[in-house]
Amino acid sequence: MSTTVLISGAGIAGPALAYWLSHHGFHPTVVEVAPALRTGGSAVDYRGPVHLGLLERMGVLDRLRDVQTGGTAMRFVDERDRVLMEMPADFAGGDLEVARGDLSRILCEASGERTEWLFGDSVTSLTETAAGVDVTFRSGRRRTFDLVVGADGVHSTVRRLAFGPERDHVRHLGYYVAGWSMPDGPGPTRNYNVPGRLAALGGGQAFLAFSSPRQIGYDRRDVTAQKRILRDRFAGLGWEVPRLLAALDDATDLYFDQICRVDVRPWSRGRITLVGDAAAGATIGGMGNGTALVAAYALAGELAAAGGDHTVAFPRYEKLVGDFARRAQRGGNTTGRFLAPRTAHGIRMRNWLHNQQWFLGMVMKIAGDRSAKIDLPAYSGLSAASPRPPR
Ligand SMILES: Cc1cc2nc3c(=O)[nH]c(=O)nc-3n(C[C@H](O)[C@H](O)[C@H](O)COP(=O)(O)OP(=O)(O)OC[C@H]3O[C@@H](n4cnc5c(N)ncnc54)[C@H](O)[C@@H]3O)c2cc1C
Repeated sequence: MSTTVLISGAGIAGPALAYWLSHHGFHPTVVEVAPALRTGGSAVDYRGPVHLGLLERMGVLDRLRDVQTGGTAMRFVDERDRVLMEMPADFAGGDLEVARGDLSRILCEASGERTEWLFGDSVTSLTETAAGVDVTFRSGRRRTFDLVVGADGVHSTVRRLAFGPERDHVRHLGYYVAGWSMPDGPGPTRNYNVPGRLAALGGGQAFLAFSSPRQIGYDRRDVTAQKRILRDRFAGLGWEVPRLLAALDDATDLYFDQICRVDVRPWSRGRITLVGDAAAGATIGGMGNGTALVAAYALAGELAAAGGDHTVAFPRYEKLVGDFARRAQRGGNTTGRFLAPRTAHGIRMRNWLHNQQWFLGMVMKIAGDRSAKIDLPAYSGLSAASPRPPR
């Protein structure tokens, strides 16, 4: 019976999976490349009965409600802060909006002591044998696990090691986004566009988005280079942009990434599988947080239902969640164009459309339907939870 599971990544999918695996009697170990929990990222949202129902079943819904942002309306303004278009708080904030850092912390605390946590380390090789997966880590550690799960985001290392290079699975969608903490007064998030660029401030966050049909080459660990890219792209713009760029210099929690879409078929190879953005991410606008929760629940549940037999559980997991995840991902296809249309005409059209109640209602309905269109079974745990193996 497979009971030891290595999860790479302590974002959202990783801690949620650890929670459900230990709940069912498995022994999860989470390895996270960052030296401590990453607290960056703007607000992320949950919507509909499936997302909220799972948070409730995990016992974290009330704690999340305690720290929820309450959502922030999105106001699109011109250079002199005159309102061009405004959207209600639940458009971006769903039914429950929380800071990503709070969410990640609360999910980690929920899976807490029943999970082994290895911060500041990363998987460097995976060798599958008949008995398990031999894993080497950057620290030099070597361990063997029954199963390995990549929950390490759109640029997953587990996916690269087990499924091949990123270019085979990740499609650039023509835009980059960046966010960092930046206190501001209360009120709606103010968004300012010029063709192909967006600058925004509100809810304690600065946010930039820009069009770049081609991928930009940069080192993802080099924050100085990312700040330089942003300064170059936004140099010379008016409105609050100079103030945002000045604050960027001191930002310690910058999130910077391309908008991209992950497509992997199938999600599993032997004893190794993927969950969350690593399997079906869309960076932003594709309900990545909700899908991560659903997928983590289903993966752990199917493993429990199959008595730990991954050859049965992994295909069932993908059959149950695959279409749901891909429908949610579609939202990410248009996020860049919505945030930063490439022409002045495109900006005017976006504003006009989103000022129409019927259009807003339609977009919200599509999002609501996508978040709820799945029947999740109730799972019971392994019949005889095995004792935790020696480390
Ligand atoms: C710092 C950060 C900020 C974000 N901010 C936003 C935001 O503002 N808006 C938004 O919509 N989405 C944001 N996201 C993405 C969003 O969190 C995900 O789309 C969604 O939550 C799905 O979660 P996930 O757990 O699959 O992936 P993620 O939340 O991306 O988590 C992946 C985790 O894996 C870790 N990791 C990466 N490589 C390795 C490795 N080699 N070994 C071990 N661990 C590794 C990462 O450090 C991270 O903790 C952010 C992600 C991160 C990491």
